[in-house]
Formats: sequence, structure tokens, C-alpha cells
Amino acid sequence: STQFIINDLKASVEGKEILKGINLEIKGGEIHAIMGPNGTGKSTLASALMGHPKYEVTGGTAHLNGEDILEMEVDERARAGMFLAMQYPSEITGVTNADFLRSAINARREEGNEISLIKFIRQMEGKMKELEMNTEFAHRYLNEGFSGGEKKRNEILQMMLLDPKLVILDEIDSGLDIDALRIVSNGVNAMRSEDRGFLVITHYQRLLNYIKPDFVHVMMQGRIVKSGGPELAERLENEGYDWVKEELGIVD
Ligand code: ADP
Ligand code: MG
Ligand code: MG
Repeated sequence: STQFIINDLKASVEGKEILKGINLEIKGGEIHAIMGPNGTGKSTLASALMGHPKYEVTGGTAHLNGEDILEMEVDERARAGMFLAMQYPSEITGVTNADFLRSAINARREEGNEISLIKFIRQMEGKMKELEMNTEFAHRYLNEGFSGGEKKRNEILQMMLLDPKLVILDEIDSGLDIDALRIVSNGVNAMRSEDRGFLVITHYQRLLNYIKPDFVHVMMQGRIVKSGGPELAERLENEGYDWVKEELGIVD
């Protein structure tokens, strides 16, 4: 079973410290939600864990099944099973979705054990059907001209095909209408397994009606300041963040 442990993680962007000591432990089968006001470092946490070059880790550790991921190159992290569905997926002209996905899958396999084209297409089309995506999206350039909702579905398609061990979803709900939200959430829920942990970053409690978290954490000013169960998300939805600030004596 999977285990992901973040210990006292600190990270800076352009010389400014954003993450001020994050501690988190995610076990296989668990869904952890991180909520928090805008600009508190939620996306920075995701980027730092994935090895985005703009985000400099200045302290702490992160281990996936005993392996120190912060020591790894970006592609090694992906091979180790880290996956991020991004808040703003990038568009890549000249690379089709299918080509991108197939090389991503093969990059995780041993040489000589690459997935066959036929098997890949069968898998991809099966998952696209689950996500109610038109199979024409396979042959379009990666995310180019995709609507916000189509991009998010495409991120979930990647997740399903790559079969990661630690999934980070950064505001996967932003820009989704209610039908797309349901489809994307069903896709995520179908991927729940003892071998996989989830970190779901969201601004809104709404998503957590569909993807039910085991733990909810509140991030403020680069720290996790409060943790609880799903009831914490409901209280934040009803009352906002002010009571957390008052309780903890946070001044901003
Ligand atoms: P959240 O996802 O919680 O809304 P972010 O992690 O995106 O917050 O941002 C946290 C802080 O770091 C903000 O003050 C933001 O302006 C800053 N920041 C994040 N990414 C960058 C970047 N690439 N360049 C400059 N500042 C950044
Ligand atoms: Mg934001
Ligand atoms: Mg963000």
C-alpha cells in the first residue's frame, strides 16, 4: 500500500518564502483535501512537489513509498508515480493528445515492454468513453483550443491511463459545469484504490460533495493551520475562513 509523507516542507518563489513548513501524511486509499483562501500557497505546494523549476525547495522532505522525491528530476517523479492535474493545463502545439499519452505511458515502462499501439488505443478509447469525451480529442493537439472543462477532463484521462500512486488535483473543479463536475468526479472516484493516495486542492466545498475526502486541511499563509474531517469543509463553506483566523490569532 502507498504512503506519502511530507515533513516540514518549505519553498520559495523568486526569493520569497511561500511554504513555511508543511506536514502531511497520505496513505493509500485516502483522499485528503486542502482548502484555503487564494494566494496561500496551495498551487505552490503542488508545483514544489512536482519539481517545477520556479519553485525552490528550501527545507523539509517528501517521501513516496520511502523514496525521496525531492531528490528526483521531474520525469523521475512522474515515473515514481507522482501525478498532478494542473489548475491551468498547458497547450502544446504539434503533439497530439494520443502521442503525448502514449509516450508518457511508455516513459514509465521498461525498454522493450512498451504498450502496443492497439492496446493503447483500446485503453484510451475506453477511458474516454467513461469520461464522455469525443474520441476525436485523441487526435487533437494537446489542450489546444480545448474549453476549460475539456482540459480538466483531459487531465483526468491522463491520470486514468498513467495509473499514478499519488494524485494531486489542483482546482480540478474550476470552470466545470455541474455535468462535467460529476463526470470528472466519477472518474476520480473510480480510481480510488489502496495503492493510490489523493491530494485534492479546492477553493469550494462543492467538489467535496462528489469526491468525498477522509481528511480536510486548511492552508493559510503557507502553513496547514487546521485539520479535520469532511465537516470542516462544510463549516468553511458556511462561515468562510474568518473564524479559523480568529481561533488561531492569525492577522493578515
Ligand atoms: P493558491 O494556489 O493558494 O491560490 P499560490 O500557490 O498560487 O496560491 O500562490 C502563493 C503565493 O505565491 C502568491 O502570493 C503568489 O503570488 C505567489 N506565486 C506563486 N507562483 C508564483 C510565480 N510563478 N511567480 C511569482 N509569484 C508566485
Ligand atoms: Mg488560486
Ligand atoms: Mg492555486
